[in-house]
Amino acid sequence: MEITALPAFSDNYIWALRHRDSPSDCVAIVDPGEAAPVLDYLQRTGSRLCAILITHRHADHIGGVSELLRHAEVPVYGPAAEQDKITMLTHALREGDSVSIPELGVEFSVLDVGGHTLGHIAYLGDIDGQPALFCGDTLFAGGCGRLFEGTPQQMFNSLGKLAILPADTRVYCAHEYTQSNLKFALAVEPGNAALQARVQAVARLRAEQQPTVPSLLGAELATNPFLRWHSPEVIAAARKFSGNATLQDPVGVFAAIREWKNVF
Ligand code: ZN
Ligand code: FE
Repeated sequence: MEITALPAFSDNYIWALRHRDSPSDCVAIVDPGEAAPVLDYLQRTGSRLCAILITHRHADHIGGVSELLRHAEVPVYGPAAEQDKITMLTHALREGDSVSIPELGVEFSVLDVGGHTLGHIAYLGDIDGQPALFCGDTLFAGGCGRLFEGTPQQMFNSLGKLAILPADTRVYCAHEYTQSNLKFALAVEPGNAALQARVQAVARLRAEQQPTVPSLLGAELATNPFLRWHSPEVIAAARKFSGNATLQDPVGVFAAIREWKNVF
């Protein structure tokens, strides 16, 4: 499978999945906030759209769907809980549902990862023998989505579901926020050697205008402060920011770090 990041707007990625040698020339698209980058890609690769997957209702993830449907009538998968806001959905999904794209030989299971929006879902599949997670604005490389609608507890539960996936899971998030996320991460956990190394690696990639995603879940567990509520340095940072010197519970630590990021 070839999985391509199609840049959109200033920092979004639309993910395009296709088999390089598939006779079906089928492409599945995740979170098309804009149609133009997708139409360009289809033309460039001589392929055709066969499915659209949506993680949540925000315009930068669904804005291109209507125009794409004018070019090809394909199934549109997305969160049942946001069906009223995503009127072009043909398949409303809940946790435990699966999405099969036979032309690509891939099947995704659906995870409820509410928090950024209440109904946010993620798609988890096995691609070429390695787990692949399309998680929209929930888990970012080095960070996590803002809590626009959900509570810290809800986002914590959602991230907790992702944190127990295999360490070699590829994490396909929807934005290129890595460098600024890691700048914050370093303020939270300056003594984390894996984080320091990642900052350097990401700086090199960005200097060459390369995407920093997908990342590996193992790297997120080692460096992403929003998955490191157990780290003494993260707990100390959460205590300092919140002014609560006895803060210890993981949800409270997560909530304090998230609040700090909002004003960082
Ligand atoms: Zn969003
Ligand atoms: Fe977004």
